[in-house]
Amino acid sequence: MEIVTPFKEIIEEVKSIGGDLAKFCFQCGICDTVCPWNKVRNFSIRKIMNQAIYGLSEVESEEMWLCSTCGRCVQRCPRGVKQIDVSIALRRLGTNYQVFPPSVKPIKTVIGGLMAEGNPFGEERSKRGDWASGKGVKTFSEDMEILYFSCCYSSYDKRLKNIAVSTASILKKAGVNFGILGSSENCCGESVRKTGDEELFKKLAKDNIKNFIDNGVKKIVVSSPHCYHTFKNEYPEFMVNFEIIHITQYLYELINSGRLKIKGEYKKRVTYHDPCYLGRHNGVYDEPREVLKKIPSLQFFEMSDAFEESLCCGGGGGRVWMETLKDERFSNLRLKQAIDVGAEQLVTACPYCITMFEDSRVVLNYEDVLEIKDITEIVAEVI
Ligand code: SF4
Ligand code: SF4
Repeated sequence: MEIVTPFKEIIEEVKSIGGDLAKFCFQCGICDTVCPWNKVRNFSIRKIMNQAIYGLSEVESEEMWLCSTCGRCVQRCPRGVKQIDVSIALRRLGTNYQVFPPSVKPIKTVIGGLMAEGNPFGEERSKRGDWASGKGVKTFSEDMEILYFSCCYSSYDKRLKNIAVSTASILKKAGVNFGILGSSENCCGESVRKTGDEELFKKLAKDNIKNFIDNGVKKIVVSSPHCYHTFKNEYPEFMVNFEIIHITQYLYELINSGRLKIKGEYKKRVTYHDPCYLGRHNGVYDEPREVLKKIPSLQFFEMSDAFEESLCCGGGGGRVWMETLKDERFSNLRLKQAIDVGAEQLVTACPYCITMFEDSRVVLNYEDVLEIKDITEIVAEVI
């Protein structure tokens, strides 16, 4: 076992991010009992907290990259320890020293893509708005009500582009005057910050903020809870405040105000998965459920781990880019929970969750048993 950094540096880094609250940890172990990792393998965030405050962390170890920043332990810790911040501090050291264990190495390619093209796939920046071509979606201008920011995944990923297309069709049906900024947008930077690349996060954030200000943006509707969280809670660190609305909140508002009319039936049995960054991190639990419950003929079922206790999909904290062994994926468990309550569709509102669930659907051979849907894909079918 090699300790790459001097212990003092670990202590300082942990302190600099506000993680020194870990010194109040009395090793009760509640965090370990609620952490989803312990449903699939042994993992102790309690031990990581203990090592970090004494500067004894193994910076080369895979353990410090496992946390998916789901927020369950933070929510339950009786001493107010910020486990996620401590994990990020340790990852900052790993990133600074370029010490990446094998399962984490794909991050290097992601960083390259973000630096060169503003998205984690390294896809051409000029193609970011291609999903909208032929769909009658305009370029955003200052007189418009809404900027729709679709997220890198919904802009480029073959499966997930349908979220952006469905959202645009809903906004058009509701008569919302909206536009996109396409090629001038960058990734929001949320996940790369959680992997410890603070400098790259700042660059992406500053470029986005400049782009929003230059174009007169005031109100932004987003598809991803990760964009929602960053724009709402982290961009204010740069002394800006845009009005940020997640699409589930906007759907709820549009339906309640009568701007969006539900006309069709949806004869399916569905259950809803709370994305960590929409639910636990931001308290948005009711709006997506209310929207689904307004759809005629839709049968709604609640899973065992829901609301504050939602089971993480495993894709947060940059884990969506890392390798996870097939039998260690939380998303496998979530699909089983959905089937257990009799659902034929697992609905959520996050491109990362859908990515993880679609992978598990293939791994578990559930393609004929369970469909994965974004909430916008359902609403677009019934208006
Ligand atoms: S729940 Fe909090 S106090 Fe208890 S072991 Fe975990 S970090 Fe320490
Ligand atoms: S944030 Fe979630 S994944 Fe990370 S250590 Fe806490 S409970 Fe585990």
